[in-house]
Amino acid sequence: MPNDVLTVGALSAKRGQKQYGVNEFPVQDKPYRLPMWLINGNADGPMLVVTAGVHPAEYASIAAALELGRSLQPENLRGQVIVVPVMNIPAFAARSIYICPLDGKNLNRVFPGNAQGTASEQIADWVFRNVISQANYYVDLHGGDLIEALVPFTIFFRSGNERVDQVSQEMAKVFGIRFLVCSETPGSTFCAASRAGIPSILAESGGQGIWTPRHVADHTNGLNRLMRHLNMIPGGAPNPSPSTLLERFLWLRSEHAGFWYPAVDVNDKVKAGQNLGCVKNCEGDVLQNAISPADGVVLFIVSSLAINQTDPLLAVGA
Ligand SMILES: [Zn+2]
Repeated sequence: MPNDVLTVGALSAKRGQKQYGVNEFPVQDKPYRLPMWLINGNADGPMLVVTAGVHPAEYASIAAALELGRSLQPENLRGQVIVVPVMNIPAFAARSIYICPLDGKNLNRVFPGNAQGTASEQIADWVFRNVISQANYYVDLHGGDLIEALVPFTIFFRSGNERVDQVSQEMAKVFGIRFLVCSETPGSTFCAASRAGIPSILAESGGQGIWTPRHVADHTNGLNRLMRHLNMIPGGAPNPSPSTLLERFLWLRSEHAGFWYPAVDVNDKVKAGQNLGCVKNCEGDVLQNAISPADGVVLFIVSSLAINQTDPLLAVGA
């Protein structure tokens, strides 16, 4: 596609240029300042959008997006890349778990947003209309929240549009993380984008506030592999890597406020009917056993002793 000028809001980058800047737009009538890179390659090619920090304490994913934005140069690029390293700015500053402090909502449950809605809905609306909608391919980076331990995995969504869904699954496979999960998370970035006809994935590596070089590299290597697969950067198509497709993403939630005692670890293989942990009260009475609904593998576990009613406990990929 022709790529003479790449524009997002008030920022633009001409062909062969790279632009870092901060777009400002109103959220609840106050200015919201969103940093991003626009990288407009020397040669024509597809448009890739990369976002991180929808969940603002998933640091491995944010560190990887920063690395991509800082390092990718237009001289080596065929096509265009937009990188938004921290979407949920107020929540990043607050080191918030799951939610945006402006409205108490999970930004990854309100896409594609609503211009007349709450703060998170307005942020989602602006980002969806101005950034994500421009994409031919979209990657949203995540990394386990402050209270989540996980084995790395990549999620894609089957929207019903066969061409889009096939490309999304291919992107997930190319990214190079072993577990691929087919799942719908209503209101999430990648599901909203898939529904809008944009092949999309969500990549998860990291967790518990830790961002080791290995976790960051899961993301940066995945992006590098994807851009080579799309022939956007030199290096040729990446070698195939082993992958395991999981068709179901089964979340178990707490029915009570209390104390959470997991009995398994991430990456453990589990059986249907197996007790994966329990929620206890102060005196030690078991309020709830977390029973695996299927044979599968434990993809993430909430690692916090404190648990609230309706909080996730863990998830099994089956
Ligand atoms: Zn997340």
